[in-house]
Amino acid sequence: MIYFDHSATTKPSEEILDLYKKISTEYWYNSETLYNEGKRSNALYLKSYETVLKEMKLVNKKVLFTSGATEANNTALYGYIANFKNKDCELITSKIEHASVLKVYQDLEKQGFKVTYLDVDDEGNVDLEQLKKTLNNKTVLLSIMWVNNIIGSIQPIKEIINILKDYPRCKFHVDCVQGYGKIKPDFDFNDLDFITLSGHKLHGIKGTGCLIYTNNINLSFMKGGHQQDSIRPGTLDLAGAVCMAKTIQNAYKNYRFDDVKEKYLYLVKKLENCPNLILIRNHSSYSPYILNINIPSLRAETALHLLNEKGIIVGTGSACNSKSKDLDPALSSILKNKLNPINSIRISLDSSNTYEELDLLIKELSSMGGTK
Ligand code: PLP
Repeated sequence: MIYFDHSATTKPSEEILDLYKKISTEYWYNSETLYNEGKRSNALYLKSYETVLKEMKLVNKKVLFTSGATEANNTALYGYIANFKNKDCELITSKIEHASVLKVYQDLEKQGFKVTYLDVDDEGNVDLEQLKKTLNNKTVLLSIMWVNNIIGSIQPIKEIINILKDYPRCKFHVDCVQGYGKIKPDFDFNDLDFITLSGHKLHGIKGTGCLIYTNNINLSFMKGGHQQDSIRPGTLDLAGAVCMAKTIQNAYKNYRFDDVKEKYLYLVKKLENCPNLILIRNHSSYSPYILNINIPSLRAETALHLLNEKGIIVGTGSACNSKSKDLDPALSSILKNKLNPINSIRISLDSSNTYEELDLLIKELSSMGGTK
């Protein structure tokens, strides 16, 4: 199979799989216990915690190991907003956030919080003028993703950090899932209040992720024991935490931006003149890992199955929405009413994809769906 759905998930590396097995076999004792074996497990957890801070050059931050980015996003947003019981505050996000952010905001709105969803243009750029107009002294939370998971547009996080300097009450949450390890940040992670990461998008283990947050922020989410500062109670998945820390450590060691960009531009050059295809992309600020292609005369699901029969795997929109009959709200916000989101497939690359694989994809796509 030729795999072009790396933004949905990646194959775990042998190194991480071996590590998971080793930790699960040798350090299976509960890390909260007082006997020596438990203390050894706890020491390994603390080491992983420090590894994350060191690798990302973070100071005054805490690390919460989670089951992935969905849980990290939910914990950050619900956990922080739990501090505002009187609801006398305002929240901002964008219309192209992942469902694990967007749906939390929608729920908070239903609970009575004032929420603004920032518009995006045709290339998936969040409207910063609208952000400036919306921010005020009551704004306590802004959530903007670093790299959009559907069309790969990169948001100007550094510029937003600067805008927020006039609004010290407003905490900044950034879903870094599709950016970390793939593109280099032009901002300092220390300037973010909440950072969300997922292991399985970076050749790590499914069910691993983390939320990094500023020291003095009070988070209240689940109820239970006192593990992980009582924010995520329950017996620690030590192997998951160790593997997540290792995945974070490996991410920029395996940095392949230039190689992936070359492959992305090769794909774009070959596909942009195909009369049956419309490339949905950001031309100036994009991640080369993600290319969205609209085939106006074909449903994405049909295209996906046709390609699958030829041994090629691609995605449709966001993995979380691909089985849902609802139109992806993020993609709809980008396409407006000009194109139909149900016709969009997503190609997401990895440096392991070869030019031979790209040529096969180009051959199949260019003959698909007739002419526009
Ligand atoms: N955030 C973004 C931007 C994503 O692309 C995804 C997965 O597609 C998630 C969050 C959810 O990640 P996880 O599967 O780790 O919960």
